[in-house]
This record gives sequence, C-alpha cells and structure tokens, in this order.
Amino acid sequence: MNVIFMGPPGAGKGTQAERIVSTFHIPHISTGDAFRLAMSQETPLGIEAKGYVDKGLLVPDEITNGIVRERLQQPDCNEGSLLDGFPRTIAQADALDVIMESLGKKIDHVINLGVDRNLLLARLTGRRICKSCGATYHVVFNPPKQDGVCDKCEGELYQRSDDTEEKVGTRLDEYVNKTAPLLEYYRGKGLLREVNGDQDIDLVTSEISSLLRG
Ligand code: ADP
Ligand code: AMP
Repeated sequence: MNVIFMGPPGAGKGTQAERIVSTFHIPHISTGDAFRLAMSQETPLGIEAKGYVDKGLLVPDEITNGIVRERLQQPDCNEGSLLDGFPRTIAQADALDVIMESLGKKIDHVINLGVDRNLLLARLTGRRICKSCGATYHVVFNPPKQDGVCDKCEGELYQRSDDTEEKVGTRLDEYVNKTAPLLEYYRGKGLLREVNGDQDIDLVTSEISSLLRG
C-alpha cells in the first residue's frame, strides 16, 4: 500500500504518520526529515538544502525527486510506503508517477489533512520534536508528560529553526502557490480523500485508518 499525506505545514502529517506506520508496518518517508538529517550531518545535499529550508522555501525539484527515487528503491518499501511532505509541486507529482511506474508500484491513497489556516501558526510555533527518536509534541495541544523530555525515549525536545512566525509565513505562501494545486491533480485521478485535521489527534488517526482499510 503506497500512501501520500498532503496538507499545509502544521496539518498533522508527521504526527499521524508516526501512528499510521506503526499500525500498517510501512516505512515513513519524510523529505523534510531527510533534509534535516543531511543538514545536521553537513553533507553536500544538506549544505545545498539549507539555503532553501532556512528561508522557508521549497528545495528545487531535481534535488528532492532524487532523494525519493533512491529511497523508494530500498527493499523495506516493497510492501508499501507512506510519503509525508512529498510531492509538493506538480513537477514532483509527475516525477513520482514515473518513479512508481518504473518500480512497478502505484499510489493507492492520497489523504489530505485539511486544517483552518488560522490554527497553523499556533501549531507550528508550539511544535517540539525529540532529538533522539523524532516524535512530535506540542507545548499546548500535545504536551509531553515532562517539559522538554520525550515520553517515548526520554530524549531532549527541540524547536525547529523554521518554526518561527516569520518563516511560517513564507512556508504557507509556498504551500498555497505550489502545493495546493496538487489537490486538483490527485482529485482528477480519483485518489484524493479528505480528512478534517482540525479534530482531536486520535480521531484523525481513526478516520485515516478507516480510509486506508477501505
Ligand atoms: P506537519 O507534519 O503536517 O507539518 P505535525 O504533525 O508536525 O505537522 O503537527 C504540527 C504541530 O501540531 C505539532 O506540534 C503537533 O503536535 C500538533 N498537532 C498535530 N495534529 C494535531 C491535532 N489534531 N490537534 C492539535 N494539534 C495537533
Ligand atoms: P517539512 O518537514 O515537511 O515541514 O519540510 C521542511 C522543509 O524541507 C520545507 O520547508 C522545504 O524547505 C523542505 N522540503 C521538504 N519536503 C520538500 C519537498 N517535497 N519539496 C521541496 N522542499 C521540501
């Protein structure tokens, strides 16, 4: 089963992906995580990506497509995958179709998490992530039991450098201009499913699970 999670930054894609991959046993492929890892390791990819990520801009398609092409060829993707944050442009969606076809795979579901735009800033500026295991929290909406400490692995929580008010503005503009048109693209292919991402986290998970179980 190959699934794509769509939705604006802060919609809850990563939060839901953590839960869905543990139920459905498919790998979670987040291009944002891949860029952050490369940036922290200061690889050539990371150094190139940093110039865009730090400004809240999308990384160019050729760079991003290459990461996904390589990742989807790994054996752990044989039974499926959950793409989170990719594709984000029509050119990426076209490239994904080519990659999938060349690997004899197909996209089964595109889940769009719709969230009121007014909620996104608060979600993103309050987001905290575990340095060790990557689990996502929110200081108000989904707080850890102990301030700054991951419930799952006791790792230290940090705030992403692009989760500032200024960068969130640019990221949302990028979403509206370049990513939102993809909704029509996937609706046209009959793959798009809408889930109300404003709801409680558990409720969103159960709606997504039902859609995937079809
Ligand atoms: P995305 O991956 O789409 O950018 P995240 O999953 O990281 O979004 O969620 C953004 C922030 O909002 C996180 O701090 C997360 O804890 C919080 N969050 C996610 N889903 C919900 C929800 N349904 N209700 C309230 N807060 C949520
Ligand atoms: P995310 O973790 O999904 O919020 O992504 C963080 C940042 O990584 C984005 O603001 C972009 O700079 C970059 N990024 C992640 N995925 C993509 C993508 N599919 N295309 C281009 N840039 C991306």
